[in-house]
Formats: sequence, structure tokens, C-alpha cells
Amino acid sequence: MVGAGFAGLTAARELARAGVEVTVVESADRVGGRASTVLSALGSPVDLGGMWLGPDHTELSTLAAEHGVTTFPTPTAGKRLILDGDRPTRAWLPLLVTGAALLRLSLPTSDDHTTIADWSTRLPGAAARRLLEVVVAEAIAADVDQVTRQAWASAVRSSGGLRSMLGTAQASLITGGAGALAERLARTLDVHLSRPATAITRTPTSVVITTPTGPLTADHAIIAVPPPVSARIRHTPPLPPSRAEVERDTAMGTIYKAIAVYERPFWRDAGLSGEVIALTGPVPAVFDVSPPDDPDDPDGPGSSHGSGSSHGSGSSDGSGSSHGSGGPGHLGFLVPGRRAEHLASLSTADRRATVLRTAATAFGPAALTPVDWHEKSWHEDPHVLGGYSALPRPGRYAATRHPPTPAGRVHWAGTETSAAWPGYLEGAIRSGRRAAREVLTA
Ligand SMILES: Cc1cc2nc3c(=O)[nH]c(=O)nc-3n(C[C@H](O)[C@H](O)[C@H](O)COP(=O)(O)OP(=O)(O)OC[C@H]3O[C@@H](n4cnc5c(N)ncnc54)[C@H](O)[C@@H]3O)c2cc1C
Repeated sequence: MVGAGFAGLTAARELARAGVEVTVVESADRVGGRASTVLSALGSPVDLGGMWLGPDHTELSTLAAEHGVTTFPTPTAGKRLILDGDRPTRAWLPLLVTGAALLRLSLPTSDDHTTIADWSTRLPGAAARRLLEVVVAEAIAADVDQVTRQAWASAVRSSGGLRSMLGTAQASLITGGAGALAERLARTLDVHLSRPATAITRTPTSVVITTPTGPLTADHAIIAVPPPVSARIRHTPPLPPSRAEVERDTAMGTIYKAIAVYERPFWRDAGLSGEVIALTGPVPAVFDVSPPDDPDDPDGPGSSHGSGSSHGSGSSDGSGSSHGSGGPGHLGFLVPGRRAEHLASLSTADRRATVLRTAATAFGPAALTPVDWHEKSWHEDPHVLGGYSALPRPGRYAATRHPPTPAGRVHWAGTETSAAWPGYLEGAIRSGRRAAREVLTA
């Protein structure tokens, strides 16, 4: 097994359960890949990568339950803010125009040349155009001039539709963090950290995986690494053109994520949900990703059972969340595309000040002094090269749609290979199960 993200760990677990001897090699010094949990100074878990799940993420929910891990509703109660400059805007026209544009753009199309940026020039009003840009970029972790209509419509379809992609897929969070779940998954497996696969030789009867600390010989190999990253592995004989095209014609999304940790979610005192969309400035979106008050009580406040909570609903009656305000408050900042590259170019202190200024514009000066701060520029991570996932380069959509057909005894997993929920933790787990089944029936 190459790669110890959710896809590789799931595949390894399925094979080990079936009695197969599995070795996992992982290039980083930790498991989890694009999921990573650290603990804040207050002891609360902070997810630096993937974190949300929705009601249709059945494999992830099952996996969590099997490991005794619960989920809880994303806190959404209170008013959501749309900032235009330094002020909240209540203008409804841009919302209507953007809503209609999103519906139109989610229709199936074979237009792989017009980018969302090109298409959006027809929209009336700068605010509507910018709102569309923010929503698309946040959903896909790329600037709108990097995403064609066909690629976007396909992403919407594989994410269960627009409502699911922009709403219910963010309904819940994993108690203890997604990265911590990956660590639990890895506990019973033979995982070799800091051991990248650099080359793979296929023979009719075996696979030889070259690593810096010696080769491994196996009956089969599963490569559970995003395509632009697995392109660095040398193959003998060369890969079939279909996989080579997927590796060449996709590029990782660009995303910066930060979490500011406060003693308590003080924004709720003012009736605010913690969710912000900023039409201008360096940080387009802020979310409340605070842990539940009592993570040990899955049926009490914070339980996902029957919550029906929808992220982004902006409900003001408290129905969207059963959170109190007793625990720490976490604000999450997601910055895609060129804005992420710009932030990464700043000094650590300037970056933090820049990001927190957006929070202060929305929630007041208290936002400027979190007790703790965590951040990650995923596009600078040498092991995954970005997130949320690999995206087709403009004009190359068709070339990236090859099914993950094995190359001899080499199989492919990873969220990008999943027909449902590619780009999500759910897609990663589904792909791992599928690849394990492939090996077991080979
Ligand atoms: C900031 C951010 C936010 C996100 N938010 C969400 C969310 O809220 N909900 C959601 O469902 N998804 C989210 N995602 C996406 C989700 O995290 C990914 O889809 C998922 O984690 C991918 O899992 P994977 O196993 O397919 O790949 P990865 O997690 O990328 O695993 C691949 C592994 O392979 C390793 N590797 C690379 N090269 C080699 C090599 N040569 N040899 C050995 N090992 C190698 C890497 O180090 C890595 O550990 C987010 C991602 C990011 C970055």
C-alpha cells in the first residue's frame, strides 16, 4: 500500500480484515494525508484539513462508528454575514442573481473551454459576480479562471447536487477530529512513516516497490496518492496512457486554512453564527467549527442524531445547532486560489494579522486576540501538493475521466478515483474499499 491517507488506510484495513498481509509505506512523518488534527492550547482538537461530513457520507459515518467516534452538528445557529468592504450587506439582488447562476451552472454541459470566470462576466452587478466567485472557489479550492463549466457541473453532480455540495455536506463534524480518526485507523496496521515509494516495477507475478530504505516485493500494490503526486513515482514498464493522462492533466487545488481558538465562541453573544462571506479582502470565508460542549456525550448537546442541521442555513432560531457556549470557540478560515498563495508569501505575523482582521471586521476587536492559532498552506505540503483534491486542467476534462483500471498488479485508490464524492473524505474511503475488493478478487 502506498499512501496512508483515508483511502490507503481503508484499503489496508479491508485487506488485513480479509487475512491479507499488508505493508503501508507513507512519505510523510504522520498518517492522515489531507486530514490532520492537532490539539489547541485549550486541549480542543483542531482539524487543519478535511473535517466536515454530511448525511450522505455513509462510509465515513460507518467507519467513525466502528472506531467508537461520534459526530456532532456543525454550529450554524445565528445570523450569517456577507461583508462588502468593511460592512455587512443586506442587498438581496446579488444573492438572487448568484443563486440563479449557480443553478444554471450545475446543469450538465460538455463546455470544457469556458471558465466560470469567463461565464460570470454576463452577470449583472459586481457583487453578484464576486459572490459567485467566492462560492465556487470555496467549494472547489481553485480560482474561477481555473475551472471550466464542465468541470464545475461534474463536481456538483458527484457531490450529490448543489444543495448537498454547498449545504448538507458540511452538516456535521467529527468529534476529536478527522485526522485523529485516521490515526485510530492506522493503529492496527503495519505503517512505515517517512518511507516514500519512489519507483515501482511490475512483473507478471509481483510488484517491486523501491523506497529509500530498501525495496518491498508484493503480490499487488495499491497506490492511494493524488494523481499529480503519484506522477513522481517512476514506473517500469511505463504506465498505460490512461493513468499517465490523469496524472498529467490534473492539478491540485490551492488552499490555505487557519483556525483561531478562543476561550469561548463570543460571536454567539451577538446572535452571529460565525459564518462570514467576504466579497472583498484577503479572506473570502469564515466558519464556526467549535467543538461541542460535551464531546463525551454523543446523545446530549452536540449529537448528530437526527439533527438535520445544514451548514450555511444561517438559521436564527437555534434549530441548526445544539451547541451551548461553554467550550472553546473555533473560527475556521478557508482561503482558496491566488489569495492563498498571497497569504503564504507573507511573514507568519503578517499572515495572522491579515486573516484576523477579517474576523475583527465581522465580530469586533475580540477576534484579534485568540488564545491559540493554527494554520496550514496545503499547496506547500510536499506530500500532497494541495487540496481539497486534484482538478482537471481547463480543456482537459475528458482526459481525466478514465476509470481507475489497474495496470497489471498495480491498483489505484484515492478520493480522486471515486465516482461519488471525489474530493471528500467519503470518496477516499469508498475508493479504498473498491481497491481492496479489486485486489481480493484479482
Ligand atoms: C484544507 C482542506 C479542507 C478539506 N475539507 C474537507 C471537508 O471538510 N470534508 C471532506 O470530506 N473533505 C475535505 N477535504 C478533502 C479531504 O481531506 C480529502 O479528499 C481526503 O483526505 C483525501 O484522502 P486520500 O487518502 O485520497 O488522499 P491523501 O489524504 O492525500 O493521502 C495520500 C497519502 O499519500 C502520501 N504519499 C504521497 N506520495 C507518496 C509516496 N510517493 N509514497 C508514499 N506515500 C506517499 C501522502 O503523504 C498522503 O498521506 C479537505 C482537504 C483540505 C486540504
